[in-house]
Amino acid sequence: MDIHEYQAKELLSRYSVHIPRGGLAYSPEQATYRASEIGGDRWVVKAQIHSGARGKAGGVRICKSDSEVSEAAEYMLGRKLVTHQTGPRGKLVSRLYIEETVDIRQELYLGIVLDRKSERVMIVASASGGMEIEEIAEKQPDSIIRAIVDPGAGMQEFQAREIAFGLGLENSLIGKAADTLIGCYRVFRDFDAAMLEINPLVVTRDNNLIALDAKMSFDENALYRRPEISELRDKSQEDPRETFASDRGLSYVGLDGNIGCIINGAGLAMATMDMIKIAGGMPANFLDIGGGASPERVAKAFRAVLADDNVETILVNIFAGINRCDWVAEGVLKAIREVGVHVPLVVRLAGTNVEEGRRILADSGEKVIVAETLAEAAEKSVEAMRTFAERKH
Ligand code: GDP
Ligand code: MN
Repeated sequence: MDIHEYQAKELLSRYSVHIPRGGLAYSPEQATYRASEIGGDRWVVKAQIHSGARGKAGGVRICKSDSEVSEAAEYMLGRKLVTHQTGPRGKLVSRLYIEETVDIRQELYLGIVLDRKSERVMIVASASGGMEIEEIAEKQPDSIIRAIVDPGAGMQEFQAREIAFGLGLENSLIGKAADTLIGCYRVFRDFDAAMLEINPLVVTRDNNLIALDAKMSFDENALYRRPEISELRDKSQEDPRETFASDRGLSYVGLDGNIGCIINGAGLAMATMDMIKIAGGMPANFLDIGGGASPERVAKAFRAVLADDNVETILVNIFAGINRCDWVAEGVLKAIREVGVHVPLVVRLAGTNVEEGRRILADSGEKVIVAETLAEAAEKSVEAMRTFAERKH
């Protein structure tokens, strides 16, 4: 689960990481009010969306007067910002964060992630901040420092200082940098974070270290023990298709294609998506309905897939081990009758009670395209999608 920049900064400030003074605003009036509270004659207006790279998309603006703050707020609020991290659908801006500006001498990069290989928390830092880590990795790979934290000991002062020296910071900054690194590590650890990124972490002209940006995401499996973090959830930033599905206990990931997938088993779902691509199509989603899916659950899966307007064909692919093909067939019919399926439907059933499942579909009199193998199912769904799309456009 992701949180907003201002929320991440609030957590960081509790661990004595320095952040600029700022305030939240939901309207242009509030934005100018926040600016006057902060004082000074320059402010940064920042769109709060769950994405980085807002700057390049018009979501970060430096303003020199009240009216500029108000104009920037007017421009951003209610807009769907499309950054290269949001996907083409973009993310709605409904909150702004107004901050004092900071005189930057140098931009650093700081990230904390879980390194799967070493099974440890890893600190990633670079003196070439400002650009994204992928770009740093490409252009300045030698500038990247990686350090593994021992989980028993936690981050130690000497390790933090070593990283600070590695960043080439001058002596007067080493102590501050070590405090910042240790603070960041503790926030990450104490709240079960999965990722923390401060880009840029800046060295100011008056020789301070300030977190100018902050991105944080959390391990959803640990949210039950972090009620304070779960309360920071902002559903408006999530893919509405995914929220709809997860609220119904379905494992769903939204994609940009038009062939909706209803599949049991994550492995089969991945393989089916590959087969759709090989057949020349694009999946609209990943969806694993799980084993032992009742007709009600299958109908729910149809609702989730059809909630996506892009869907022009549905492919149901079930290999029933724990599941039963007759249940799935009943679920398919339930969905056709209750939910209303207005797009072509391709069904491939295999495994337990397959004959019974096929018979139920055949006897129903409903229009279902039946396939025997996975490859055939993928080909037939791409074909059905093309015919449907041609007729529609
Ligand atoms: P992102 O584009 O979503 O990563 O948003 P950031 O918060 O990182 O802001 C983008 C860029 O705006 C930063 O990398 C800075 O270069 C610039 N920026 C943000 N705040 C300030 C500020 O107070 N002063 C100055 N000079 N630049 C700022
Ligand atoms: Mn940034």
